[in-house]
Amino acid sequence: MTDPIAILGGTFDPVHIGHLRVAMEASEALDAPVRLMPAHVPPHRPAPVASAAQRVAMLRVALAGQDHLQLDTRELDRSEPSYTVDTLRQMRKEFGAEQSLILLLGADAFAGLPTWHEWRALFDLAHIAVMTRPGHDARLPVELATEIAPRRARAASDLRTTPCGKVLDLPVTPLEISASAVRALLAAGRDPRWLVPDALLADPAMLDTYRRRADRSPSGK
Ligand code: ATP
Repeated sequence: MTDPIAILGGTFDPVHIGHLRVAMEASEALDAPVRLMPAHVPPHRPAPVASAAQRVAMLRVALAGQDHLQLDTRELDRSEPSYTVDTLRQMRKEFGAEQSLILLLGADAFAGLPTWHEWRALFDLAHIAVMTRPGHDARLPVELATEIAPRRARAASDLRTTPCGKVLDLPVTPLEISASAVRALLAAGRDPRWLVPDALLADPAMLDTYRRRADRSPSGK
């Protein structure tokens, strides 16, 4: 069987080292490439500051030079936000019934799964690896706990032998970095060094979108 394909969706506005570190750890633990998949922003979240093209450009630069973390723009290639279930259906068609697909989700996002469109169908399309922080136990709604009880995987290797349907806890190193904190820092004119990949800093224009917001604000000088 070929290596699984793991998927880390997000806004990446901008990509930061929290994303990259977690993607790398998942790639190592699952022995699989991880596709970073920037999303059209769903209606319940504020619009991103950077355009889709800018978010892709930042990801491209951040991921250059290594091959385990890859960029997958399929959601942005569509004209509207896509449900995860539809993205996975598209991937299933593309890669075939036997390919192991692994959706990476933070523990908080996972706990909210029953609010997702056709959430039970996700298990017919992919495995889910829940990125957990050591010592933090997310409480799961009863319907989710019941659904996943028979699906629990004991080891990453369990996700290689079947294409979908299992749930694995994946401990990751917690890094207290968020894109919103990076944006706030840039808007305040501060230096984002060591919160975003160095490659983003090499091109002074790359993060300008976030800095210019500060220039445009009424109090900006
Ligand atoms: P924002 O602050 O704008 O909400 P974010 O930093 O949370 O953004 P997203 O693009 O929404 O970034 O996140 C994409 C994925 O990466 C999500 O699954 C999210 O849980 C995960 N992620 C983001 N930051 C971290 C981090 N510091 N450590 C581990 N996972 C993270």
